[in-house]
Amino acid sequence: MRIGSHLSLQSGYAQAAITAYKMGAGCFQYFPKNPRRLSIKDFSLQDARRCREICEKNDLVSVAHTPYPTNLCVEGEEVYATMLQSVKNDLDIADACGSLGVVVHFGQYKGAKKNPLYGYQLMIYSLNEILRSYSGKAMILLENNAGQGNKMGITIEELVQVRSLCEKPEHIGFCLDTCHAFASGMWELNKENELVERFIHSDYVPHLKVIHLNDSKYPAFSYRDRHADIGRGMIGEEAFIRLLSRPELVTIPLILETPGEREGGHQAEIEFVRGLSKDIQ
Ligand SMILES: [Zn+2]
Repeated sequence: MRIGSHLSLQSGYAQAAITAYKMGAGCFQYFPKNPRRLSIKDFSLQDARRCREICEKNDLVSVAHTPYPTNLCVEGEEVYATMLQSVKNDLDIADACGSLGVVVHFGQYKGAKKNPLYGYQLMIYSLNEILRSYSGKAMILLENNAGQGNKMGITIEELVQVRSLCEKPEHIGFCLDTCHAFASGMWELNKENELVERFIHSDYVPHLKVIHLNDSKYPAFSYRDRHADIGRGMIGEEAFIRLLSRPELVTIPLILETPGEREGGHQAEIEFVRGLSKDIQ
């Protein structure tokens, strides 16, 4: 089991890798730049390469996450151009750091045209624009939404379809957020086998590259995005044991984006999740 957590990037990319290593993690996630706004960071290539070296040497997998305001369905010429440049910059940083990819939430259309289908078109168009001149190894990793707002991106079928309609699907993979999957009603408790069967039959599993392992503060069909520590939310540890016991998922890196309120923080929570795997037989 490869597990780690989201780490804050206070002293650079290489330092984040060192922190992950010292925590005993097998993977980690970071924001490549200020997570609160869209921007283009003039990053240190030297720091990024050092991060890559540390990861390679210590068998660590890293994943980047786009800033919160990133929306692939955003409208308006100026903000649209800023969004595209920001995601391209995230990809460049992730690639230099040797990261698996850049997690991007499925878009949410809030534009003037009332037809939500326009949002899906815009999202495919954005992904094509971002990837057209890209030749790096880091992938775009589309993450399922909790369903806040207009409920776009809460089904596996939408994610798979958007990917398959893009010009360069080989650069696009998926990130499964378990809190979002539960809050949106995609993951029904005690139906973990059916859920994974759906993943398999919809061509989702081969492109599933990372799992955001989060419990949920709110119930199913709440469409609310509030993460809880594993085993301390509405999903509960038994359900995580059932989900993680599926062989299709065991090799996928697990990243905690939880509050980390246990004594010992995320390091203790990583150990807790490893302990759950002892019950997986
Ligand atoms: Zn997430």
